[in-house]
Amino acid sequence: MYTNILGYPRIGKLRELKKACEAYWGGKISKEILLCQGKLIREENWKMQETSGIDLIPSNDFSFYDHVLDMTLTVGAIPARYDSLRNDKLELYFAMARGIQKGDKDVIAMEMTKWFDTNYHYIVPEFVKDQEFSLFDTKAVDEYKEARKLGVQTKPVLIGPISYLLLGKEKGGGFHRIDLIERLLPVYAQLLKLLEDEGAEWIQIDEPFLALDLDEQTRELYRKVYAQIREYTKSKLLLTTYFDGLKDNTQIALALPVDALHLDLVRCPEQLDAVLAEFPADKTLSLGIVDGRNIWKNDLEQSLSVVRKAVKALGTDRVLIASSSSLLHVPYDLEVETREEVLSAEIKRWLAFARQKLQEVAALKDLSADHPSEQAQRVLAANKQDLAAKKASKLIHHAEVARRVATVQEQDAKRKSVFKERQRVQRDSLGLPSFPTTTIGSFPQTKEVRLWRSEMKKGNLSADEYNNLLKEETRRCIDWQEEVGLDVLVHGEFERNDMVEYFGELLDGFTFTQNGWVQSYGSRCVKPPVIYGDVSRPLPMTVDWSVFAQSLTPKPVKGMLTGPVTILQWSFVRNDQPRSATCLQIALAIRDEVCDLEKAGIKIIQIDEPAIREGLPLRRGSWNEYLQWAVDCFRISAGGVRNETQIHTHMCYSEFNDIMEHIARMDADVITIECSRSQMELLDVFHDFEYPNEIGPGVYDIHSARVPDKEEMLVLLRKAAGIIHPDLLWVNPDCGLKTRNWNETKEALIEMIRAAEEIRKEY
Ligand code: GLN
Ligand code: ZN
Repeated sequence: MYTNILGYPRIGKLRELKKACEAYWGGKISKEILLCQGKLIREENWKMQETSGIDLIPSNDFSFYDHVLDMTLTVGAIPARYDSLRNDKLELYFAMARGIQKGDKDVIAMEMTKWFDTNYHYIVPEFVKDQEFSLFDTKAVDEYKEARKLGVQTKPVLIGPISYLLLGKEKGGGFHRIDLIERLLPVYAQLLKLLEDEGAEWIQIDEPFLALDLDEQTRELYRKVYAQIREYTKSKLLLTTYFDGLKDNTQIALALPVDALHLDLVRCPEQLDAVLAEFPADKTLSLGIVDGRNIWKNDLEQSLSVVRKAVKALGTDRVLIASSSSLLHVPYDLEVETREEVLSAEIKRWLAFARQKLQEVAALKDLSADHPSEQAQRVLAANKQDLAAKKASKLIHHAEVARRVATVQEQDAKRKSVFKERQRVQRDSLGLPSFPTTTIGSFPQTKEVRLWRSEMKKGNLSADEYNNLLKEETRRCIDWQEEVGLDVLVHGEFERNDMVEYFGELLDGFTFTQNGWVQSYGSRCVKPPVIYGDVSRPLPMTVDWSVFAQSLTPKPVKGMLTGPVTILQWSFVRNDQPRSATCLQIALAIRDEVCDLEKAGIKIIQIDEPAIREGLPLRRGSWNEYLQWAVDCFRISAGGVRNETQIHTHMCYSEFNDIMEHIARMDADVITIECSRSQMELLDVFHDFEYPNEIGPGVYDIHSARVPDKEEMLVLLRKAAGIIHPDLLWVNPDCGLKTRNWNETKEALIEMIRAAEEIRKEY
């Protein structure tokens, strides 16, 4: 029996890679130093896995930016706009990732999108109809050799050709990217041969799409392609799937001529029986039982029963013990969490980060042997104690939360009256013009604002001093909005570091880490809050800020909250109850906040839910169940207020195509959406669906520093008014303004207000 890790985090234990990349981009360190930093991280990762007892150690899982982009470079799928950069590989690579504006070089970056249902973003390959591929880069081979030089035998990791093509997109029509497979395969043939020649015993090929919904054609293609791939190499092939189960693709996956198949048994434990029942005699099964997506300690006893079941069916020699997916999605090492006031010792005991997961995988192998070592038995005993301590902990369950959840009734998810009636009373009470203008919530988080926060955290500013500075910033923000004539104001969110962390810090049931960083994209990392117990709201969280802001102006100031689904989605969540149960607890806490805001005189309350769409399960068959509870949770958070109180929601990067009925069921009085980059095309689905409530389609893209002018926004507004009844339209940017500077923000909003004034005259 062997242990197997699918991939390891690559940002460095203390985000060394992030720091090195940013220093390199800023011209502060040389290319040599950057490359050296990468090498150090790879070495540390390999050695760490080796000493932890991992047999199949991944290589080529390291990346300076993104592993999909690495594959794009490997197969030479370099879009033509980068042609002039081809002679400097590193410059080319970062230009593809981030764009380049230097001297006479001015090229935009490739697009980025979410990696399946994770918060990791990959660079989307771009293909043209007559796409050519060639082995442009041999990173996979080089890193294999590099490890071998260090005395570590590794298992190179490649994205499989079908998944690689499916991850990309077509530029210019007339073909489907999957049609490029015959052109792509020769490059894989070359690569696999090189790896074999270098002596790679195992090669891992990731085909995550095998765990997704596939049409018959693609299934057929899997058979064809893997029959070919088998011919390319004598190295052993380990085919991996993750993030969901094989389900209806089980037959195809089992029939592929590979040496081993990996299953994600955390996401889909129930697939094991079906797979074991028909598992071919010539294959090894990799059991993904240590969670690569969450940070809880493994239940070793429980995992052992899974291992024993597999061993009973297949024998020890044909079983691998593995992480469920790459460990890219969890932080490095729990041991660097040293500050008890951040992460308490009691909770720390329940957690396992990447390094601890290596030990779990190794312990499971040891414990499955006929005579487990004493060391392994001690690990098991300690694990049992830790889990028992967690079960018995007073921190997790709260009778009051349970009682509250039990009282939830259908009523609670309903506003008092239907939208039309609410709209009537809201119009009376708010007295807004047609095409009302507003923003999405945040105003620029300047260096100063961030400095105040860090000084306060270090103790150099008292809470009072900090709050006074923020109040002044809020006052300036309100004054300016009033002065330029926005209709519905916001307080600016200066007190918030992050839209989820801010609430997590004020809610019970959440904790944080010092160094629990996870790569989000490129050098950008996030530190998700950890939801460990029942969630409740000890005190109001935003009321003081909203009341203060409202006291400065007669115009309505929107209360600003993050919705329950988004808070859930952007945190590490409990694994001892369904996500829906945790979400409901958060929804009730937000509901109380909404009601308190109303009581305090706030007339408009926005509950942001940018993550509803990304929370969709990977398999369509599970969409309805998810959308049912997710939308219910939103409705519960919004459902406690009077008809007069106007509820807004905001969603960015959302495609609404297949989920329109659920968006409508959210029944927000106003929804603001990202729309400018799609030239209002997103509105078509609202039109086709006859979406009845009010809509604020973003009229300019806040992700770019470019300042749009009145005319271009007017064009968009006219277009919007041609699709949606003008009576229902709001005028606002695409998203919050926190990443912009004040100059850009002011100029753009002034133009936006002019555009609104103009369109009002036309209707
Ligand atoms: N209210 C938030 C802001 O303006 C919304 C951010 C988001 O949608 N991601 O920053
Ligand atoms: Zn947004």
